[in-house]
Amino acid sequence: MFGLPRVATGDMLRAEVEKGSSLGREVEPIMTAGRLAPDDLVVRVIEERLRQPDAASGVLLDGFPRTVAQAEALDHMLRAGGRTVDLVLVLEVPREVLIERLLRRAEAEGRADDTPETIGRRLEVYEEQTAPVLDWYAQHAARIERIDGVGTIDDVRDRIRDAFATAGGDGRQ
Ligand code: AMP
Repeated sequence: MFGLPRVATGDMLRAEVEKGSSLGREVEPIMTAGRLAPDDLVVRVIEERLRQPDAASGVLLDGFPRTVAQAEALDHMLRAGGRTVDLVLVLEVPREVLIERLLRRAEAEGRADDTPETIGRRLEVYEEQTAPVLDWYAQHAARIERIDGVGTIDDVRDRIRDAFATAGGDGRQ
């Protein structure tokens, strides 16, 4: 999206579960329960991914960082290469709309963590562990754009594209 490789930790972890690797076996019960995988494990996965040649001129991180410890580790990692987080996109969606979307996705994709119980747990985990990441970025003077995430995929994509274009991206998909 926007000319950048999308790096989604959830997708990467699901691929490990599919493969049945030792990492996949470690994270599967955690993912099914709607909890977060250990920071050091996720940071290792990201570190390796960001070393790939296609990540050299930037990536779109999706689902990472999800804790302040991950944000700190990312900052450290990027700084070592003279890089930084250019833009933090916050997609804002009311809880009831989120739940409705996830239940619809459960029907479409059959993800093991889209059950009503696990969705509730994931929203709690977001409030407890991920929401503080936004305060952390605010304190570290990152550029943060809040995007209204209600509407069609096209609507939301257009809003993201506008925010991205004014952040110095070129608006490519
Ligand atoms: P997602 O596809 O982003 O919804 O992630 C699915 C699940 O993978 C999460 O509920 C966590 O169990 C795990 N996961 C994905 N990204 C992270 C992360 N950055 N830190 C810890 N766990 C993660």
